[in-house]
Amino acid sequence: MSYIAAPERYQQMKYNRCGKSGLLLPAISLGLWHNFGGKDVFENGRAMVRRSFDLGITHFDIANNYGPPYGSAEENFGKIMKLDMNPYRDELIISTKAGFDMWQGPYGNWGSRKYLVASLDQSLKRLGLDYVDIYYHHRPDPETPLEETMAALDHVVRQGKALYVGLSNYSAEQTAAASKLLKQLGTPCLIHQPSYSIINRWIENGLQDVLAEEGIGTIGFLPLAQGILTNKYLNGIPADSRAAGHSVFLNENNITDKHVLTAKALNELAAERRQSLAQMALAWVLRDGKVTSALIGASRVSQIEENVAALQNLSFTSDELARIDQIVAE
Ligand code: NDP
Repeated sequence: MSYIAAPERYQQMKYNRCGKSGLLLPAISLGLWHNFGGKDVFENGRAMVRRSFDLGITHFDIANNYGPPYGSAEENFGKIMKLDMNPYRDELIISTKAGFDMWQGPYGNWGSRKYLVASLDQSLKRLGLDYVDIYYHHRPDPETPLEETMAALDHVVRQGKALYVGLSNYSAEQTAAASKLLKQLGTPCLIHQPSYSIINRWIENGLQDVLAEEGIGTIGFLPLAQGILTNKYLNGIPADSRAAGHSVFLNENNITDKHVLTAKALNELAAERRQSLAQMALAWVLRDGKVTSALIGASRVSQIEENVAALQNLSFTSDELARIDQIVAE
């Protein structure tokens, strides 16, 4: 059935300015790292994209190698664009990335101009798009001169193949240096994509200061720690969870006793706030306005609905914040 977006789609989402740019991003964005690959059920992914957009999620985040197999998440998103979303292209922010292993040989990984330019051309073909909104360098490359990688990002913007550029997994120092170069080139860094959650706070030790100084927005990935910060693993490993599935990034051994104890204690606090643990974890990421968008993943439509409802309560008392810190420290 042909898709018509919900007329009320902009009513409940919150949109935050991305750093000092003109771009607003939804407080919650959807990533396609898992559940959109060649082995996943296409209609489930399609339903998640449709429902997301109906709830005001205008930003979808992909990378060249999301799948498995590599490239298949972009192909599937391209199909969804063709089937449903192309009429709404100007209401969407679509990002992709290059920086990790993608194809064989010396030109399919890291940060050379050769890799970044070729990879974006491949991504655009798979996505069936003329341009992406944001193109990221996915991780720093210790061997390639930063000048070369940043010049490649500037180049694809000038080619019209990306509107903005971003960095992912760069440290505070690397971000400061890259941002300086990008400003000199005339293509300022729009956004940084680091991991960030209640149990992973590395960006608070320097990176957030650099991002504020440079006027760069932040989109935090793994806000739910791949599901650990939800009620999913409180009583064992469900058969339909990521930890029990085919992901090579989370398995049963990663769900430690300490994680379960932390999640149980956080879950009690969330219940006092009349939120689910997932909702509280997302609210925590967004609590102080430093993070532009929380970048969630989902395996089913109901999770997206639950997660967007987190926006109904983003404030914490100082006592609640102290209790969260204490639970995590225990
Ligand atoms: P999350 O921490 O949001 O974990 C998502 C997973 O948690 C879901 O797939 C689902 O797992 C579970 N979940 C989500 N909502 C709920 C809920 N309400 N109740 C119960 N379980 C829930 O993030 P991801 O690990 O999926 O990563 C998000 C995105 O971040 C990626 O898609 C990608 O775009 C980006 N990313 C970027 C990286 C980078 O290097 N730049 C690295 C990694 C991710 P289940 O299958 O068990 O239901």
